[in-house]
Amino acid sequence: MSLDFKDYIASVPDFPEPGVIFRDISPLMADGKAYAAATDAIVQYAQDKGVEMIAGPEARGFIVGCPVAYKLGVGFAPARKKGKLPRETVSASYGLEYGESTLYLHKDAIKPGQRVLVCDDLLATGGTIAATIELVERLGGIVVGTAFIVELTDLHGRDKIKGYDILALTEYA
Ligand code: IMP
Repeated sequence: MSLDFKDYIASVPDFPEPGVIFRDISPLMADGKAYAAATDAIVQYAQDKGVEMIAGPEARGFIVGCPVAYKLGVGFAPARKKGKLPRETVSASYGLEYGESTLYLHKDAIKPGQRVLVCDDLLATGGTIAATIELVERLGGIVVGTAFIVELTDLHGRDKIKGYDILALTEYA
């Protein structure tokens, strides 16, 4: 029986600021069957793409990517904010509504030539995933796909990662 992931996404008006509807995946995580179904859908996609490694940005990219890595028996590379990774890193910056943010990967997080799936909970403007893709590629990884629980289609994140394959389990306009 297939399940509708939308039933497990909470829509929270005016969070984190007035006028924004926040799509919250925590009800999905709280339901073992729904979390497993989301994980299994991404595992299937990753298997079809011959994925050898998963990468994802903090923090919800870990929630989505780590169970997929575990099920596939491959590794997970965490892309982290400033000051979190203790060894040598590469970095990529991306624009936010006000200002800029930077993500980092350990220099040895990805092996050259590895087929990598990049995961996050949600695709909005695409800045976060584009920065994560840039980091993976700077280390010689081949990004064979991207996977999200939610895509906010009106924000056109797809346009920022043109040419990359995208799996989105649910969409909101
Ligand atoms: P983007 O960089 O604009 O694509 O924003 C995506 C990033 O912001 C992801 O890492 C999300 O976790 C976070 N994000 C943006 N909007 C939402 C939302 O409505 N719900 C949950 N996370 C969000």
